[in-house]
Amino acid sequence: MSDRKLIVGNWKMNGRKSDALALVGDLLKRIQAKAPRCDLMVCPPAIHIDAVAGLVAHTSLAVGGQDCHQAASGAHTGDIAAPMLWDLGCRAVILGHSERRANHGESSALVRAKAVTARAVGLLTIIAIGETLAQRDAGHTIDVVSSQLRESVPEDSDTDNTVIAYEPVWAIGTGRTASVEQVAEVHKAIHAEMKVLMGPKKAAGLRVLYGGSVTPANAQSLLALDTVGGALVGGASLKADQFWAIAEACP
Ligand code: PEP
Repeated sequence: MSDRKLIVGNWKMNGRKSDALALVGDLLKRIQAKAPRCDLMVCPPAIHIDAVAGLVAHTSLAVGGQDCHQAASGAHTGDIAAPMLWDLGCRAVILGHSERRANHGESSALVRAKAVTARAVGLLTIIAIGETLAQRDAGHTIDVVSSQLRESVPEDSDTDNTVIAYEPVWAIGTGRTASVEQVAEVHKAIHAEMKVLMGPKKAAGLRVLYGGSVTPANAQSLLALDTVGGALVGGASLKADQFWAIAEACP
């Protein structure tokens, strides 16, 4: 486990192979010119992982998957298995992103099963949780994220196999960022819940990311919070200058 913040770019379903290679090439130039103060990872669409992993081999830029199946192999047309991600050079996978939960009906129990399989091959699991606007407006934010943690996070969690990403659903891709006060409140509750789930010793130093319309303009104030261990970045991770500026905002 590292004390450095972790900045993860979630490219979602964007870009052709040439775009992926150009984006990574640009990032690598910046990294070579100036080592970042944070750990940096990109999560390309699965079909581009092999090409991206080839470029970033032997550099400090890590590659992750955006999802994996709960089974290690088998008759699951169109799905990606955790051992395949590992084989291509991924060392992490995002699980339970709200778009997976909403578009594919993924439950917290399924996220948990995926995490167990991903960890079995050595992948760091970045488990995403977050409330909808209706849940926030009803005053249920802390209850919702706490129960998502209890249901999504496997028992054997430690700082080497687990990162939590708090992503309020209403802030993802909307240009509406949670305020520093809102993030501070929820991150405090997440750390408290994870202390119960993992035990205080294992939970010490757990990285809890914030995600939801992070940009160079708001990154510094969010990343200045002690409870924020980094950022999960969607839209702004598709532009090398913006992703780099977010990385540069790490204290
Ligand atoms: C995300 O997809 O995890 C995300 C936070 O997206 P955006 O930064 O575009 O809100």
